[in-house]
Amino acid sequence: MSTLNPKRTVAELKELRQLTGDENGAQRVAFTPLWVKTRAWLQEKLAGMPLETHTDAAGNFWATLRGESEKCLLIGGHMDSVPNGGWLDGCLNVMAGVEILRRIHAQYNGKPPVTVRLVDWADEEGARFGKSLFGSSACSGNLDMTEARGLVDKQGIKLPDALKNVGIDFERVKDSGKELKNAAAYLELHIEQGPVLLDLDLPLGAVLGTFGVERHAITFHGQAAHSGSTPMNRRKDAFLAAAKMSQEIYKIADRSGNGVCTIGSCTTKPGIVTSVVEECRITLDQRHLDAAKLATMLHEAQAASERFAKEGNVKVSWERIWQIAPRPFNDDLIAMCDESIRETCGKVHRLPSGPLHDAAEVAAAGVPTVMMFVQSLHGISHNKIEDTKEEHLEMCVTAFDKLAEKAMGWLQVNNC
Ligand SMILES: [Zn+2]
Repeated sequence: MSTLNPKRTVAELKELRQLTGDENGAQRVAFTPLWVKTRAWLQEKLAGMPLETHTDAAGNFWATLRGESEKCLLIGGHMDSVPNGGWLDGCLNVMAGVEILRRIHAQYNGKPPVTVRLVDWADEEGARFGKSLFGSSACSGNLDMTEARGLVDKQGIKLPDALKNVGIDFERVKDSGKELKNAAAYLELHIEQGPVLLDLDLPLGAVLGTFGVERHAITFHGQAAHSGSTPMNRRKDAFLAAAKMSQEIYKIADRSGNGVCTIGSCTTKPGIVTSVVEECRITLDQRHLDAAKLATMLHEAQAASERFAKEGNVKVSWERIWQIAPRPFNDDLIAMCDESIRETCGKVHRLPSGPLHDAAEVAAAGVPTVMMFVQSLHGISHNKIEDTKEEHLEMCVTAFDKLAEKAMGWLQVNNC
């Protein structure tokens, strides 16, 4: 019989808020004493079950309930927060996972058909060293060791030294990869952190994957000229071409379906009131869940920039700042997530995730993955006002538990 008690999850989240938050919000920054205390509290919550627990080479905490099969169902989240963070970001998943472990343990007399593992990823937020997804990217093998070795916090402490303080040897963090050996499915529950479900008045959503990102600087090169003596038809106005891009990106995003485009910065030279702009640099950030559509968005932006440059008799150059591929989630798991939500609250919405999550790293490592989102009030996160209705929190624990059960059934028949 199921003993799932979502109200207990809400009560435990409140207890955690009391223990690790102050009047400015949650203070569970990774690798700090309060984060260590949070982990100890989590272990106490798990103490009543016969779980194997350990911290891996990258500082990720694992709790394993051995099953009939070595195949593993992973449930992952993160207990760390940004400074002055919200009370639900990350820990909602971990605490829902604790409740699901209790239910599975009770229902299967301590021996479920597949092995179930809860993971608390280390330093998802990257708040202290400016690099997010530390523990999960070490585990997936994607962590750039050279870059990470050089990271320093505001006090001048290097990441490897901060890790040494909590018993982690930086040079060995990728040994964490062996934890994924029998991983056959990965589930992550998270607050949406945006306004989509709120605007649709829906409590829960099935996440299709995380967006791919193309980030570029575009520079138009014209000619400085006197703003009084230069007739309009003789100008090489770098800003005019850039300004046309501003409108064009809305059309490009529109044509792409669900993509988004942002020009986040614009600087001009010489940047004085009496001169036509000689050089104008804008930044363009484009995101889409579909790799081909993201590539089309980029090509359309490049073609438009050439066209506007030609029209204005200026030149244009592009420089890539950063990119990451989309991480689409597993179709079967998305369908199970969808079904679990329908069974719990009748209606579901499928949506991509704008922010990256640990799930993106696990998916990149080749493990079938899905995420479930629960509505965020105000559509706000990384802020002490971050909140979700209690009835929605209870619903998400119920729906996420149904998903875990369906995924276990799927793993029994699926030979992945
Ligand atoms: Zn998070």
